[in-house]
Amino acid sequence: MKAIVLKPGTTSIQLKDVEEPMIQKPTDVKMKVLSVGICGTDREEASGGRADAPQGESELVIGHEMCGQIVEVGSLVKDFKVGDYAVFTVRRGCGHCEACLADHYDMCYTGQYTERGIKGRHGYQAEFAVDDEKYLIKIPETIKDIAVLTEPTTVVEKAIEEACHIQTSRLPGHNKESWLQGKTALIAGLGPIGLLGAMVLALRGAKVIGIDIVDKDSSRPKILEELGGTYINAKETSLDNLLKQHPQIDLILEAAGIAKLDFDLFDILGMNGVYVLTGVPAEGKPLDVNGAHIMKQIVLKNQVVLGSVNASFDNFHSAVKDLESGLKKWPTTIPKIISHKIPFKEFEKVLSKHSPDEIKVIITWAA
Ligand SMILES: [Zn+2]
Ligand SMILES: [Zn+2]
Repeated sequence: MKAIVLKPGTTSIQLKDVEEPMIQKPTDVKMKVLSVGICGTDREEASGGRADAPQGESELVIGHEMCGQIVEVGSLVKDFKVGDYAVFTVRRGCGHCEACLADHYDMCYTGQYTERGIKGRHGYQAEFAVDDEKYLIKIPETIKDIAVLTEPTTVVEKAIEEACHIQTSRLPGHNKESWLQGKTALIAGLGPIGLLGAMVLALRGAKVIGIDIVDKDSSRPKILEELGGTYINAKETSLDNLLKQHPQIDLILEAAGIAKLDFDLFDILGMNGVYVLTGVPAEGKPLDVNGAHIMKQIVLKNQVVLGSVNASFDNFHSAVKDLESGLKKWPTTIPKIISHKIPFKEFEKVLSKHSPDEIKVIITWAA
């Protein structure tokens, strides 16, 4: 079969014939890959950054944001059948820490986990993929055309779920399901993660503000506004002005990965607010920040700062549910988050280049 194969640590990446994976255990499922998203992680890998081949091999099939259709199931597979649409998760546990033993690989303590397409396991940019049904999430047929957004949606599901969990366990009078109702949530960075965050927050009843530096008439602010959010162009509006218009920001969902902006945002986080970071900034020159001012504010305003990466099985199920509700509520808006669909033979076009109107690029493998 064809696959996009990288020599980790180099920029050598090509479409190659590799051995087609086969069902090896009775609980394995084989999927025909339909499409696989490209994100910053793939581009970092392709530029010679963080990526590891499986043990004993020198190459890695990339790709972690997949969706597919089942073509074969092992004899003991219980919950899936041929023809079902589904998504494989990304991370596999280390097998010995407290979190992984409880199937919470996203919270692995040892760092010895593996990740398909990233760390020690082949990924999904290929015609077929096989894995245990334990790592498979069923997709309703109604969302099969946007199901490739499931994995990026899990990132915001985890960030928002953890923020709600913490807030409702420390603040009076709320439960996790209703905490966001009527709250003001600010999203920093309107890429796919930010826009999917806007969808989830709007579905939970929050008042959503999105901040970025793109023109207000471009596609990303437009999608935000169709979801009911308010766009702020950070080039035109100062944070002081933003604060005057929105004095109580309850939650900040950071999806920009820009350290300077992210530290500045502490100034507008409200009383008892929670700040969740999901962006991974590139290392650069040290920043000049007023540390004492930020620390004082976190203490005097009872604020929580939280980092969040990867996602649990529960977050995958919430992502599928929210994509279903989102597509029902905004049937023409949500599909626009997939801005480019590229046939696998032309993968090179998008892996090294990022076009200005890009939101989510996906590589298509089969119809
Ligand atoms: Zn990704
Ligand atoms: Zn672990």
